[in-house]
Amino acid sequence: MFNDRIQQLIHRLPPHTAALVTSGASRRYLTGFPSSAGAVLITEQGAWFLIDFRYIEKARETVTSCQVAEALSTKDQIAEYLTKVGATELWIETRNLSLAAYRDWQKSLPEVRVSDCPLLDDWLAAMRAVKSPDELSAIRAAGQITDAAFAHILSCLRPGMTEREVALELEFFMRKNGSEGVAFDTVAVSGKNSSLPHGVPTDKPLGKGDFLTMDFGAVQHGYCFDMTRTVAIGSVSEEQKRVYKTVLAAQNAAFGVLRAGVPGKTVDRAARDVIENAGYHGAFGHSLGHSVGLEIHEDPTAAPRSEALLPAGTVITVEPGIYLAGRFGVRIEDTVFVTADGYENLTHSPKELIIC
Ligand code: ZN
Ligand code: ZN
Repeated sequence: MFNDRIQQLIHRLPPHTAALVTSGASRRYLTGFPSSAGAVLITEQGAWFLIDFRYIEKARETVTSCQVAEALSTKDQIAEYLTKVGATELWIETRNLSLAAYRDWQKSLPEVRVSDCPLLDDWLAAMRAVKSPDELSAIRAAGQITDAAFAHILSCLRPGMTEREVALELEFFMRKNGSEGVAFDTVAVSGKNSSLPHGVPTDKPLGKGDFLTMDFGAVQHGYCFDMTRTVAIGSVSEEQKRVYKTVLAAQNAAFGVLRAGVPGKTVDRAARDVIENAGYHGAFGHSLGHSVGLEIHEDPTAAPRSEALLPAGTVITVEPGIYLAGRFGVRIEDTVFVTADGYENLTHSPKELIIC
């Protein structure tokens, strides 16, 4: 599998051109090996995985898609490999590369033309967008832990518990039940704070009549999951009910048009129309969804300007929200698998309005 991914890149590279993959997620995608540093060099004559002493023993044991080499002086070693294979141009993956690091590569490899050709990033994004059966089962497994964490937190929530305690309880449960970490910083915001889409949990205690929005996700084999649920604490007003119903209807409208071959913006529009037609113009200030995988935010996206057609096999979130500044907010988010004729929802937690 990892070998096929490397071969796909080798076949696409123009003659005498090599590619350097620098981001942690793409390195892992091509080698199966998680690491905080390293580089994958892909050339017409094969690929090298340069990795430092901390990882070398394990990498030699497990990585089969590349020749594994201990990184001693990475730039000199890469210069040597490029000379050996007769490469005159090196494309660098720039997705997570700083401008300083890119310039440093240019300076360190004067013998070749170092280029930030966007094709390399595009190829990697397109390959990573279509999940293999193994990737899908990792995401499913992360989803099971995430769903279980939601069921667990429902049994813990009570007025007086703080947002920070809610976030910690979710994270503790996920870690205890096999999550490798958290897919992103857990959001737990209540009352007025719930109008902050990515608010940081505070010491504010949950109060009666508060909405509590929890956005969290587990990780399995490096693959992320992403889910949001909003619940009411103690009681709920008619207006809160109306907003909640509208967000849920927006999500269902998005599901109604979601399938492979549709541009992300069409799915975003379907949800946004429901929110705007209900009179909440301007209250949904973020995009509807993003793909997930080895990273929590991947391509393609479902945003107002997402022209890219969603491929079959992509895993994307559908997360409409309404945020009324200074008052309250609601977001409902599922992670779903896109198929030729629709989608499969990988999120199984209930979505009817729960009053805890
Ligand atoms: Zn989320
Ligand atoms: Zn999300």
